[in-house]
Amino acid sequence: MKSLRTLFYKPLSSTLTVTSVNGFHLRPAAKFATEAKQFACDIHIEFSGKRVNAKAVNAILSLNLDREDTFTLTAHGKDAKKALEILRQTFTLLMNAERDPRQIKKRDTSYQSPTYPGEIISEGIAVGNLHVFSVKEGGHRSLRSFEEAIKESAAELEKLYANSKKDADAHIYLAQQALLLSLVEEIDTLEDFSARIEVEKALLKHGRHAAKIADLNDLLYRVKKQMGYDYQVSLPKTPFILSADDLLPSQIKILENSTVLGVVLTNSSLTSHTAILLRASGIPSILLEKPLNKEAQKVILDAYSGVIVLQPSPDDLIHAFKRQNEDEKLQFEIRQNRFKPAITQEGEKISVFANVSDLDSAKSAKEEGAEGIGLLRSEFLFKTHKPIVRDQVKAYRAIFDLFEDITVRTLDVGGDKALPYIDIPKEQNPFLGIRGIRLLKSEPKLLEEQLEAIFLAAENRPIKVMFPMISTPEEFREAKSFALNIALEKDIPIDNLRFGMMIEVPSVLFALREFNDLVDFYSIGTNDLAQYLFAVERTHPTLKIDPASPILFNVIGQIIKESTRPVSLCGELAGDTRAIPRLLETGIRTLSVSGKRIGQIKERIRDV
Ligand code: PEP
Ligand code: MG
Repeated sequence: MKSLRTLFYKPLSSTLTVTSVNGFHLRPAAKFATEAKQFACDIHIEFSGKRVNAKAVNAILSLNLDREDTFTLTAHGKDAKKALEILRQTFTLLMNAERDPRQIKKRDTSYQSPTYPGEIISEGIAVGNLHVFSVKEGGHRSLRSFEEAIKESAAELEKLYANSKKDADAHIYLAQQALLLSLVEEIDTLEDFSARIEVEKALLKHGRHAAKIADLNDLLYRVKKQMGYDYQVSLPKTPFILSADDLLPSQIKILENSTVLGVVLTNSSLTSHTAILLRASGIPSILLEKPLNKEAQKVILDAYSGVIVLQPSPDDLIHAFKRQNEDEKLQFEIRQNRFKPAITQEGEKISVFANVSDLDSAKSAKEEGAEGIGLLRSEFLFKTHKPIVRDQVKAYRAIFDLFEDITVRTLDVGGDKALPYIDIPKEQNPFLGIRGIRLLKSEPKLLEEQLEAIFLAAENRPIKVMFPMISTPEEFREAKSFALNIALEKDIPIDNLRFGMMIEVPSVLFALREFNDLVDFYSIGTNDLAQYLFAVERTHPTLKIDPASPILFNVIGQIIKESTRPVSLCGELAGDTRAIPRLLETGIRTLSVSGKRIGQIKERIRDV
């Protein structure tokens, strides 16, 4: 019988095509299902003769939708029209936000002994004993009920998300949490939960999304641990290369604290969450076709060339050690010299600052040799809730205490960056919509509180306040007078503060003379500037801007020539060693890069 909810309405449908190389996988599916849940109508996805609930992540995943698969989205009920429209937009956004998995180019090899080829997950080279991974299930002590364990697991994933410094793993935890909550609907015992996981795994098994089985196993493992089940992962105390069929994303955290030298997987994929986390942890890893089930002494894992050598000849070992030595020597030199200034061959000092997003990344940037903060991306400071002014002051003060030269950017939300407490209506082209300083119109209170907190935290320090996405001189004037008014109203002295802007929107290039009279400094954001110059979305899955194109370098040179104010550069281009000589040729003398790149960029500058 038809439900009352749908009785008086006709079902509406629309077809959608998966465009991401990663397929319709866990992360986009979790976001899509969350969006679908906001509508009262019934929403289904139909594909290949199967019809599933679009509000359940696991149901979506069970369809194994891959690139170029076309499915039908059906909405049935009162708000069906709106649901269909919004979900179509959401789907397009999600697909566009997906990137290609890193296809790392393999270096040539010349090993004498047989090599087993694989795909590179994460580059590096290691020589050590091969250890085959195993987990022993120990005893069980009653710790929590099933219901409590689900709550705790969801809270644990939420915490991992909130504490995550890397974007890549943050999404994974959130997606896993959504999957968990959808799996336990109408389930209240561990037995039923395990059975459900088995059914879901069977659906994924021979499909293209088989790598997602690790996420299901991971959830079961997490819930059981919360209930008091004991799992023992025994790893050698001496350095080892790990061979595993697959690893659970949560086991990568255990590896990070072990003596692991490298990892070889068989049953995973380059886009699996496990692979993403291995890359983020910098553990040399490859993906083999055939499993390695036997322990072995002294094997070579060459994750530059994508091979493993199980019985290396003495010459092979010498070759591997040489590569390893060169690698280590370079890394050692970079580390040793990281606090030294970056001076070119011609004796010119280039300042190398850091792009940071919170206290932890600011602290590690200092440890990596940063000379200051060129870009504090304040939108990542409070990812889960709207902060009160007092908490913001505390957060800014702790960061401001670390360096003498700090540039803090006001909230840059919109485009591909969202915050759960800022509601930006759905837009056809979010990168051309409400972004950065444009929030001043829709969220003045938020900006007001942020500026008040920055002013209070600055005390007498010469903090630089930077506005993102400025496109006209009027916009800058308005933003600055808004800021000055706050200082006046709240009676906060800000004489030492400086106000500047990002150069990200091409219109600015045609009004630099006017801007020179308004701003104290500029910072070029090449990520957005390139996107708008070439009309190529920065998150586009297939279109890429040629990083060697002279156009962007010419534009940077033009800015330097016309500007009468200090100019720095904080886009990704500044962290690309290949771009450094040409960037310096443009006349740029201050770069701001991610903390991890500082040593390497300084080293490259010294060679120019
Ligand atoms: C940029 O656009 O280059 C930039 C540094 O800002 P974000 O990447 O945060 O948009
Ligand atoms: Mg930007």
